[in-house]
Parts: sequence; C-alpha cells; structure tokens
Amino acid sequence: MGGADTTPPAPPDAQARRAVAPVICYPADTLPAPDLAGYAAARDGARRTAAVTVPPRDARALRVPAGHFLSILCPEGAQVGDLNLFNAADLSERFYSGKTRALHGTHVSTGARLWSCFPHLRPMATITHDSLAWYGTDPHGGRVHDVIGTRCDPYTAHLLGGVEYHHCCHSNLTRALSAETGLPLHEAENHVHDVLNVFMCTGFTPEGRYFMKASPARAGDRLEMLAEIDLLAVLSACPGGDCGAEHSSDTAPCHPLTLEVFAPEAGHPAGWAVPPRSAYRGGHGA
Ligand SMILES: [Zn+2]
Repeated sequence: MGGADTTPPAPPDAQARRAVAPVICYPADTLPAPDLAGYAAARDGARRTAAVTVPPRDARALRVPAGHFLSILCPEGAQVGDLNLFNAADLSERFYSGKTRALHGTHVSTGARLWSCFPHLRPMATITHDSLAWYGTDPHGGRVHDVIGTRCDPYTAHLLGGVEYHHCCHSNLTRALSAETGLPLHEAENHVHDVLNVFMCTGFTPEGRYFMKASPARAGDRLEMLAEIDLLAVLSACPGGDCGAEHSSDTAPCHPLTLEVFAPEAGHPAGWAVPPRSAYRGGHGA
C-alpha cells in the first residue's frame, strides 16, 4: 500500500467537464401526491389501538392495518431506531430504501412515501408528521431520518473490530421478526433489509464519507406515518443510542422507543384507498 500516486493527470477540459449542470435523477412532479390535509384530518380524533415498547438494544414487531397511523415516539431521550416494513401478508414485499432515497432524497420527512421493492413499487407508508422537521440541514450537512445507511450488523462489526456482538440492529430485527412470524432465525434473517434510520442524524463529508452525529431528538419527539397497506413494522432501538459516538457495542447510553397505532374514526382517511402495485406488466423485453 502507499507510495505511487495512481491518480491520472486531469485532462485540459477538466474544469469544463466538472462545470456541467446536474439534473435531478427522478423529478418528483409526476409522483402521485398524497392528500396530506385529508390524512391530517383523519389523524385528528384517531384513537390509540395498540402500543409496544421497544427496549434499548432490542427490537419489537407491530402490525398496522392499512389506513391506520404508525407513530414512533422517543419517550425518554435521544434514541435512533432502525425500521423495517413488510407487507403483513407477504414478507417478500418490503421497504426499498434505495429507491425511496432516489425518489425523495437522502433523508425523509412529512410528505415522503416509503416505497416497496420490485415488482410491487408502491407506497407502503406516507410520513404524516415529523416533530424534527424544523432541523433542516445543519452546518455539517447533516439531516434527520436517513435512508442512506443500512443497519448496524454483526458482520461489519466483526470485519472492522474482530468482535462478536449480538445486539446490532440487524440481529435485533432478526430476533423480533422470528418471534413475530415463527420463522427460524436464519430464515427470518433473509427478510431483514436496509432500514429507515428514524431520528438518526447523518450526512456526507465533502470527500463523500458517510457520517453520523448525535441525534437532535429529545423526549417527546415523534415520527408518524399512514400505513398505505397492511404493515408488519419491526423497529430496533440501536445500540448506538443517539449514534453520537459509536454503535455495535454496549457502551453508548440507550433509551427505549415506543410504537403506537392510531385508528381514524372512519377506519381510514376520507377518499383514501390502498395503492395498487406497479402496473408494469413484467415483460422485460423477453
Ligand atoms: Zn443500529
């Protein structure tokens, strides 16, 4: 390693090539827009029908009927949550973090949808309330609720630190999904996927390195979403706590998280319907 600089010399038109204007990969103007006012009206007067506490360094599952609201609450203090979403009737339809990022950006807030994987590609949930929406972009380029990171896991922890740690979000989600579905641990693990990092504050350095910093969440902060389909939600309270220092260990102070379900009076927002799966017919040109 080291020694010779392998960077090729810049061509004469390097600056001109760099100066080409960017275009947004997926302009949002043709995305079907959610009726946020209708959703907010349905949330008013909705009653709580279920709640579960996610203990620190552990995970829990909760089912959310389509048309109901899932609320993720920080009840005690700053705590990052790693969220997996499944179609409650079909685990093969699950949250697609990469396409959600491509459609809505690196971080999500009110109005963003959480999309499912191919061949379904439909909104699984729509974010309806974010008490941290005021945070915006901080001086380091950090934002809250990321769809960049994957989830802390024991394989990377072992790769980088040679440790055997069993309470990474990946393992927590695996245990909770196994407990909820009755699937053996190794089968449940295959369904665990890249997460929405709830309350996590992250960004990129100017050199493109992924960074995290202490979550600005405080007791009482909340992220809420409307379940667009029947959901099985699984949430891990990350062993990194507020993720201000490290994860994959028992050293960071950790807090619980609360999952709650709220049912609108009419059962769902007025005029709302379960979104259809992608209408692409799957020919793939064959
Ligand atoms: Zn984690």
